[in-house]
Amino acid sequence: MTSSINKTNYLKKYFGYDQFRPNQEAIIDDLLAGKDVVAIMPTGGGKSLCFQLPALILQGTAIVVSPLIALMKDQVDALHANGIAADYYNSSQSSAIQNQVLQNLHQQKTKLLYVAPESLGHLLPNLQEENISLFAIDEAHCISAWGHDFRPAYTQLGKLKVQFPSIPVAAFTATADVATQDDIVQQLQIPSGKKHLASFDRKNLFLEVRPGTQRLPQILKFLKNKKEESGIIYCLSRKNTKNIAQKLNEKGLEAQAYHAGLSPEKRSQIQDDFVNDRTPIIVATIAFGMGIDKSNVRWVIHYNMPKNIEGYYQEVGRSGRDGLPAETLLFYSYADVIQLRQFMEDAPNAEFQLAKLERMQQFAEALSCRRIALLNYFGEHVSKNCGNCDNCQTPPEFFDGTILAQKICSAVHRLKQQEPIGMLVDVLRGSKNAQIYDKGYQHIKTYGVAKNVAWLDLQQYVIQLVNQGILEIRFHQNGRLLLTPLAKKVLFEGEKVQLASLQIKKKSVAKEALD
Ligand code: ADP
Ligand code: ZN
Repeated sequence: MTSSINKTNYLKKYFGYDQFRPNQEAIIDDLLAGKDVVAIMPTGGGKSLCFQLPALILQGTAIVVSPLIALMKDQVDALHANGIAADYYNSSQSSAIQNQVLQNLHQQKTKLLYVAPESLGHLLPNLQEENISLFAIDEAHCISAWGHDFRPAYTQLGKLKVQFPSIPVAAFTATADVATQDDIVQQLQIPSGKKHLASFDRKNLFLEVRPGTQRLPQILKFLKNKKEESGIIYCLSRKNTKNIAQKLNEKGLEAQAYHAGLSPEKRSQIQDDFVNDRTPIIVATIAFGMGIDKSNVRWVIHYNMPKNIEGYYQEVGRSGRDGLPAETLLFYSYADVIQLRQFMEDAPNAEFQLAKLERMQQFAEALSCRRIALLNYFGEHVSKNCGNCDNCQTPPEFFDGTILAQKICSAVHRLKQQEPIGMLVDVLRGSKNAQIYDKGYQHIKTYGVAKNVAWLDLQQYVIQLVNQGILEIRFHQNGRLLLTPLAKKVLFEGEKVQLASLQIKKKSVAKEALD
């Protein structure tokens, strides 16, 4: 087909590449066919090319919404260097320059026009007359209060589809859980948007979670055979970064503390020392890491639990970028959960944050493959044990939980996938509470089929099924439970389910209480 010849020609001619990366070609095809798109690709996956290349092939100008004013000029300069006509429009420009940009647009001299979301309001009235090829929304998770970086200016982007119903809208992000993905689609008003989910799996990262007891001695032991290796320890508080760095120094380990309270000069010096292998260990708040390009970070430790799974995965993802094995270790303590909850309670989107924290906690408490739990959280339905996490390597004691899992899945089905964990457990245990009678749930076939299992145990088993990717929690929809494709196998194809015996977990929780 001519268009496929075109695509590869353009790829070579303007970008100098011979091949597409995973998902790029499918996204480009959708855009060339005029479809809306939601693309979730990891950092460095090559998102820009997905809208830049169609922008070159299609008639008219592509409008690219990007939140990073500071980077806009660089992006446009890079396009110019490749011989591509591009402009940007934001509040840092004089009105004379802005008018010039608009004139270039009107004369169809521009293939790509980058605009800050805050400036879109100014730009929109001018677009009605113009020939627009597509809208690309970079960092699209910023549109959602469920995302971890909500920006009010993004909410007006919903207008695009209303004002320009026939022009494709493409949303790009490197970080969005299922809740955020759904919200992006809804807010941008692109219900038939085609979803492209690149794999987020980083097979070379060993994932481990331990109870947060005796953390410092554990860290010293962990670092024993890692003398020259680079690594990052993430803490919640600035004070802790200093304390821990100092304690490591006292033990003869070279470490520097890093947090947002240090002067910009000091911060860039510490980063520099780390990137150039002069300081092997950084003890930091989450302020550290954004934009740091270091491929040989060999380990990441979370001294405290991150506030959500996105943060956790972003932070552990800073290790092992070279593809070589890297180790990650998360310390989980209930005290951290309480503290994080207190931080969140006053936030404007407290409800969202608390729901995400709860999912993080469920991940930390997982008794099955961590990677399955993690990838399912981002909407990737995998079910094969990874062999490279603590739970795969030292599995807890399992029993054949197939029948119980079938009962649970069947009840989720009969509750029409509308109810959260609490109601599900009540129904399975045959509770006589008023809500059940109001909704008539005492009549469904699975009512009371697990009445011999204690309430909290049953709740834990349900969470295990979530972590195993058999159920999904729509925590943005009252926490209702859904069946995944794997659940259908459990219900209809005799797929076996292993459940972890709960004794082990009780022991470690009890141990923490004693500590
Ligand atoms: P993202 O925005 O997804 O983080 P970028 O769009 O900045 O990633 O791309 C990351 C890097 O990969 C860039 O240097 C880009 O030029 C390069 N790249 C993109 N597509 C390809 C490809 N098909 N082949 C080789 N390199 C590519
Ligand atoms: Zn695993």
